[in-house]
Amino acid sequence: MQLIFIGAPGSGKGTQANRLTKELGYNHISTGDLLRSEVAKESPLGTKIKDIIDAGNLVDDELVMELLSKNCSLSSGRYIFDGFPRNVQQCKMLDQQVLSSQNYKVILFKIDNEVIVERIINRRVAADSGKIYNLITSPPLSPGVCDETGEVLVHRDDDKRDVVEKRMEIFDKTINPMIDYYRAGGKLVELDASLDPNEVFNKLTELIE
Ligand code: AMP
Repeated sequence: MQLIFIGAPGSGKGTQANRLTKELGYNHISTGDLLRSEVAKESPLGTKIKDIIDAGNLVDDELVMELLSKNCSLSSGRYIFDGFPRNVQQCKMLDQQVLSSQNYKVILFKIDNEVIVERIINRRVAADSGKIYNLITSPPLSPGVCDETGEVLVHRDDDKRDVVEKRMEIFDKTINPMIDYYRAGGKLVELDASLDPNEVFNKLTELIE
């Protein structure tokens, strides 16, 4: 079965997807990561994408879909889709162009917006290991560097307060139609994402069994 994680930025989708990948052998596909690797190439397309991400807006559906299709082949196993879909149009694209007749479950990471904003502002990421830290709740052992790889941790430009507020505004507008879409299809399960990450993981593994 394939998994789709939906929920606000900072609701813990990436953290849980990383753990499921390591412990249960899922493939993790994050459209945010795919877009950031385009940005890192510093191509004209990358520069255009960077401006959109830094403003807290969504990148064009077709472009994200193209990146996703290039980087995922469902015949090679089970996937977790993290950060895609972001609107109902993308839900339909995913159904028609990628999942077709595959069985899947959608996990909704539920958490209050106020908790989220504080979480994201304190988030630091390690690009190579994929580890995600929080300066308050799960800081690295040595300040500013990843425990696993020693790489320097990054505070994403779009994790700064003003951009986070814009991202939350877009999230609030797009999430309910997506919930309706997946609920109508009998695909949706809800998860309390405000719990401790270990508890979230335990509940998640129960839900997907
Ligand atoms: P994320 O790492 O998932 O929080 O994504 C970071 C940023 O990448 C978002 O704020 C959007 O600008 C862009 N992005 C990621 N996934 C998508 C998507 N499925 N559709 C449109 N834009 C996306």
